[in-house]
Amino acid sequence: MNEAELPYYHTVGVGAGPANLSLAALYEEATTESLALFEKSGGPQWHPGLIFPGVSMQTSWMKDLVTLVDPRHKLTFLNYMVTEGRLFALLNSQFATIPRKEYERYIKWAARQIPNIHYSSPIDRISFGDGGFTVYSDGRALARSEHLVVGVGSRPYIPEALAGLPADRSFIADHLSDHIDTMDRSKTVAVVGGGQTGLEKVSRLLSAGFTNVLWIGRQPWFQTIDDSSTANDIYRPNYNEFLHTLSRPTRKRLVTGHRLTGDGITPGSLAGLYQQNYNGHLELGRFPATFLPGRNVDSSEVVGDDIVLHCRATEKLEEYRVGYVVVAVGREITPVPFDSELAERIDMDEDGEMIVDADYSVRWKGMNGHRIYAFNRARWSHGIQDGSLTQLPLRAAMVINSILGREVYKISDEMCQTKWS
Ligand SMILES: Cc1cc2nc3c(=O)[nH]c(=O)nc-3n(C[C@H](O)[C@H](O)[C@H](O)COP(=O)(O)OP(=O)(O)OC[C@H]3O[C@@H](n4cnc5c(N)ncnc54)[C@H](O)[C@@H]3O)c2cc1C
Repeated sequence: MNEAELPYYHTVGVGAGPANLSLAALYEEATTESLALFEKSGGPQWHPGLIFPGVSMQTSWMKDLVTLVDPRHKLTFLNYMVTEGRLFALLNSQFATIPRKEYERYIKWAARQIPNIHYSSPIDRISFGDGGFTVYSDGRALARSEHLVVGVGSRPYIPEALAGLPADRSFIADHLSDHIDTMDRSKTVAVVGGGQTGLEKVSRLLSAGFTNVLWIGRQPWFQTIDDSSTANDIYRPNYNEFLHTLSRPTRKRLVTGHRLTGDGITPGSLAGLYQQNYNGHLELGRFPATFLPGRNVDSSEVVGDDIVLHCRATEKLEEYRVGYVVVAVGREITPVPFDSELAERIDMDEDGEMIVDADYSVRWKGMNGHRIYAFNRARWSHGIQDGSLTQLPLRAAMVINSILGREVYKISDEMCQTKWS
């Protein structure tokens, strides 16, 4: 197909995770202009390897794709509950926060109602030429557009210290489900990573009958999230405005200090694991899981049948011999497949990241009215909430206001007890 025959959209979004789904949901209500999403997975999904019974969201169900800016939208979580006949059952279950599986079901329900999502379309090249952007998959141009929204999210990674271990004995947390049934329960399993995902994997291993689990984390103790009212004031438009008045170094310093407002363990699940391990002691006469905070895994090697982890502890070096390693050290942002010509035109900061302005637009040279927006890649400029679900509809609304050049969605935040400046 030659370029002129390709479908042309006002806006193309790369990725159909919650960020771009929120954009597409609100966009449909805001304008008759066309939008299409291109998603690499074969259908709607949300972190499939990290969803299993007993794991819960860290945010309220009201933080869905649309409610914060348009509570009357047809894709609210509440409408999902009512139309799917689940509301009374959920209410009476009295969850503090909904199960992750429920959020996944909601995301799939919403995605099925959003038009123009093209699945099985991994975008591996984005170029810019006369009249707009072109997205490609496997050498084939799929569509052109006036504007582009990048919503490729994050991906798990294996750190250098754990690279090169055999793939059937060392794998990322997302893949534990693929291995757990065939793993030898008599072996020791190390879970590396002291966050929520690490905790969930330790708990899962204990439930599956493993009796020697080492939980290794870098921080001096396994730290819980600060979900207090004042910490949550950071996740409000008021705070975003304040951040944008500050210099970049000051913003970075403040945002670094915010880690535990969003990137920590849910206290209830930590207590749950602690109790699970206590119950394990009642059965075995020893704790099936050993908690090892304050350790950094410096390197690893295979020695005979074992994997040896070389760790730096508070004031000494330690070695742990294990049968398996589950890697839960966090996620990194997914690279954006701009072609080299477009990549050269994007303004980068000193960390090599795209510069994202207050309206989520990316600065680039020669834009000539064609805008690029990016979700989930502006932690240092927009704060820790940029990588979470808490402000999805607000972010999408800001992008829509900016693309359409008018205030379609009013973003206001009047009643705030905290004064930031
Ligand atoms: C297990 C887990 C639980 C979480 N729970 C919470 C929570 O309770 N509360 C909260 O606020 N935050 C939570 N988060 C953090 C965050 O909000 C979510 O990760 C959220 O999914 C981010 O949405 P996103 O759309 O930016 O990215 P993603 O969900 O990562 O979606 C990106 C999409 O882009 C697709 N993609 C990537 N590259 C391409 C490409 N080249 N071409 C086409 N498609 C591509 C991917 O397949 C994916 O579907 C959680 C994160 C994890 C991992």
